[in-house]
Amino acid sequence: MHVLILGAGQLARMMSLAGAPLNIQVSAYDVGSKTVVHPLTQAVVNDSLEAGIAAADVVTAEFEHIPHDVLDICEQSGKFLPTPEAIKAGGDRRLEKALLDNAGVRNAKYHVINNRTDFEQAIEKVGLPMVLKSALGGYDGKGQWRLKELSQVDGIWQEMEACIAATPTQAIVAEEFVPFQREVSLVGARAKDGSVEVYPLAENVHTNGVLSLSTAIDAVDLQQQAKAMFTAVANSLDYVGVLALEFFDVNGELLVNEIAPRVHNSGHWTQQGAETCQFENHLRAVCGLPLGSTKLIRETSMINILGEDTLPEEVIAMAGCYIHWYGKEKRAGRKMGHINVCGDYTGELQRKLCTLADVLDESAYPAVHEFAKSFNQ
Ligand code: ATP
Ligand code: MG
Repeated sequence: MHVLILGAGQLARMMSLAGAPLNIQVSAYDVGSKTVVHPLTQAVVNDSLEAGIAAADVVTAEFEHIPHDVLDICEQSGKFLPTPEAIKAGGDRRLEKALLDNAGVRNAKYHVINNRTDFEQAIEKVGLPMVLKSALGGYDGKGQWRLKELSQVDGIWQEMEACIAATPTQAIVAEEFVPFQREVSLVGARAKDGSVEVYPLAENVHTNGVLSLSTAIDAVDLQQQAKAMFTAVANSLDYVGVLALEFFDVNGELLVNEIAPRVHNSGHWTQQGAETCQFENHLRAVCGLPLGSTKLIRETSMINILGEDTLPEEVIAMAGCYIHWYGKEKRAGRKMGHINVCGDYTGELQRKLCTLADVLDESAYPAVHEFAKSFNQ
């Protein structure tokens, strides 16, 4: 089988690595250069999208901010999975909210803002504090505002107005501020026959809007809630492939924050912690193969490597530590790679995280240090 992935970043790279043992060949469409490249070497293999599609059995995506003309071409080929509708919803918070409402899953109260009058209405309907997010193009906490008191309204409106004006069809989605205790996410897969397999939930720690630490957890009640919402969303889309749902945990009740119609950063732990990783399961699903087991095989955390291109030797030498670089040029804050750290039991994983805090710099790995401090208290 030959799979073409829209997007040529680390997710395509890791799908390529996961597909090789199954004889699934992966190529990647680079939306910037408009060429099809090898996901590991970035060497050009086809000089047009059309040629890439012709050479592929299946076309899928590693990100949701894909130009709609590109999606249309892929859809017309009849080879595209999961479904353009899911990708569009992942890239537009208005469609995403409508999708969640239609699937009947809990999400934060919201109001769509196109002009100043809508903003006033949002303040009435949603209340303060509120989170304001651009409908299009947001990721890693970018394109967001926090409105805490009315004195901020004029200043924030100026910025939002400029944001709306900068992109045709842009809008802002105002959301109630959710007082959550923690954030968790569920990554799972739905196959062509409609069967669903989900991984254990991951608990996620974000620093400045970017995921920094993600740990597979065992939480029976939350897992049931999350699986029911996952299944409702995936079925409503007749989804095929890996899908991720991000949740707020509010006193044991889950609320969906957002969806990602693709493999997800909070599922990278599955490479070492689950019987079949999310990258392989996405390929299995879109290629029409049976899904692989999503069972946890050992306690695992994933640590994002942000803006760094080296690691201390102690980390490379540590047993149960697995390093995944993405081959990217170093830039401040950029996702450069991740570390999966595993233990045979929870205490062992916790001890390893504390050992990592001793050798990793606090400014680059704040979540690991935070964990070690709370653990040693
Ligand atoms: P991603 O990179 O995950 O796609 P994003 O930029 O699209 O991120 P969100 O996940 O919606 O945006 O928001 C980023 C973070 O901001 C969340 O993980 C959460 O910590 C916080 N946040 C978002 N919405 C709310 C809310 N309604 N109430 C409280 N906190 C929120
Ligand atoms: Mg998010």
